[in-house]
Amino acid sequence: MTLRQKRYLSLALMACGIFLMFLLRKDIAGIALLAAGFVWNITMVHCPKCNEWIEQHPGEFCRYCGAKIDWDGKKE
Ligand SMILES: [Zn+2]
Repeated sequence: MTLRQKRYLSLALMACGIFLMFLLRKDIAGIALLAAGFVWNITMVHCPKCNEWIEQHPGEFCRYCGAKIDWDGKKE
């Protein structure tokens, strides 16, 4: 799985959580999905070089160490 796919998966999970909470009033399920997406993001979306969490600034280069981020590369 590439970094981009991991990122989209976490955003999709969070979007589903928000959808459940606000449109379907399924608060518990919504919060659970939102939290799952968030935790997934924090644990999976990292700079390949310095390992900082890069979701806040998802650009072409890491904001912390300046390394080029290969969003489509497969590391594992
Ligand atoms: Zn970095």
